[in-house]
Amino acid sequence: MTDELHIVGGGMAGSEAAFQAAEAGVQVVLHEMRPEVKTFAHHTGNLGEMVCSNSFRSDDDEQNAVGLLHWEMKQAGGLIMNSAYAHRLPAGGALAVDREAFAETVTAAITAHPNIRVSHDEVSELSGEGHWIFATGPLTSEGLGRAIQAETGTDRLAFFDAIAPIVYAESIDMDVAWRQSRYDKGETEEEQKAYINCPMTKDQYEAFIDALLAADKTEFHEGETAGYFDGCLPIEVMAERGRETLRHGPMKPVGLTNPHDPETKPYAVVQLRRDNELGTLYNIVGFQTKMKYGAQKAVFSMIPGLHDASFARLGGIHRNTFLNSPTLLDDRMRLRSKPNIRFAGQVTGVEGYVESAAMGLVAGRMAAAEILGRTMPTVPQDTAHGALIHHITGGAEAKTFQPMNVNFGLFRPLEGLRGGRKGRRERYKGYTDRAKEAWQEWLTAQGLDLRAAE
Ligand SMILES: Cc1cc2nc3c(=O)[nH]c(=O)nc-3n(C[C@H](O)[C@H](O)[C@H](O)COP(=O)(O)OP(=O)(O)OC[C@H]3O[C@@H](n4cnc5c(N)ncnc54)[C@H](O)[C@@H]3O)c2cc1C
Repeated sequence: MTDELHIVGGGMAGSEAAFQAAEAGVQVVLHEMRPEVKTFAHHTGNLGEMVCSNSFRSDDDEQNAVGLLHWEMKQAGGLIMNSAYAHRLPAGGALAVDREAFAETVTAAITAHPNIRVSHDEVSELSGEGHWIFATGPLTSEGLGRAIQAETGTDRLAFFDAIAPIVYAESIDMDVAWRQSRYDKGETEEEQKAYINCPMTKDQYEAFIDALLAADKTEFHEGETAGYFDGCLPIEVMAERGRETLRHGPMKPVGLTNPHDPETKPYAVVQLRRDNELGTLYNIVGFQTKMKYGAQKAVFSMIPGLHDASFARLGGIHRNTFLNSPTLLDDRMRLRSKPNIRFAGQVTGVEGYVESAAMGLVAGRMAAAEILGRTMPTVPQDTAHGALIHHITGGAEAKTFQPMNVNFGLFRPLEGLRGGRKGRRERYKGYTDRAKEAWQEWLTAQGLDLRAAE
């Protein structure tokens, strides 16, 4: 008879952790407070709900660190990745999914698992007994947040992300907009036409920037003073940084030709990406915003092609709760002051669905090995998982610690390869080859009976 493992939070990290531990033969109780206790961003009681974008980002496992994480998780039989591939939508080189079908698959796999019991309750304390993984995410409930503060003595840190708006496809004017992925990327025609593009002239762009700068915005609450995470800046904040910033960011006009007017190069382009399998919903790529709802409708209707757009969801702002992991967690993601407790997911200071699920995968396996009395080597630093863990549990500067996406900057340099832009392809290939080998060795060394990917 083995000890039970309690996992708190059934999001990306908690669902993956539960699946991994259960597959290893451990009895798991997964505590998820939804649907009884809600968050402002989740809309269902499903496990593994995607709260904003429907994309797991790049699926390129040779030239992109997120794509490498995909690959590693797939090799480890990851539930989140396998469910994502099962509900993939065309999106150029990205792994975008039908969010509802994806979450339903994750929920079904967890609830049907003979070693997992799902308990819909809110956990508000850090018990000193038993085995626990806390994967409560950026919207960790207030009560638990207070308990974490009491235990760690460290204030929660907060910053703002913003939700990008979702538009009904039928309301987009296709006499103005057109379908094309940047540089026609993708194998099939569907992939090459995965995005809807809305072109702007210089005058339209300038008027749009003026409107963004003048728009009514949601004010910060008192005490919500931490900075934005740079990967998720609201568009109006980007516009405040310089009138050209958006044209070099989400509105860059490169790699696209307007078939309605092929001779004229657009000055800027707004892109929309498919948001569901039916193709009825599209999200405006990179358009996170904290403008008030009325202002959003007025400003977005200035975009050519979106004059009469109807919105399934407008953008919003939210808080992110995360630990100062470099000072609080050991290299096995255990709380130093209470090693019977692990943390996983975004609350550890990684950022994004993929990174969160990856931390869940590792935490679930580590907890399972501990309960089963097996030794498990630490995750090799040369893997994408290892690079992230190393960063959050020690590699990062504790004083200025902020959430981190996986990227090749976290990887140890490779000897004998060219630096700079010119050597980039070769270098990235070197990192991913090295990581794959190390990850395979780590999986093999564990001797846990976990399913390999197809
Ligand atoms: C509004 C918003 C938009 C975002 N947009 C994106 C995006 O576009 N792309 C991206 O990659 N990432 C995005 N993120 C970050 C995203 O939340 C994470 O990438 C990912 O969901 C984190 O996974 P997680 O498992 O750590 O947390 P979550 O997926 O949030 O799961 C945590 C779970 O814990 C539950 N919970 C919380 N407290 C308790 C408690 N005390 N007891 C029991 N259950 C509890 C919650 O209900 C939730 O189900 C966004 C976050 C927010 C808040």
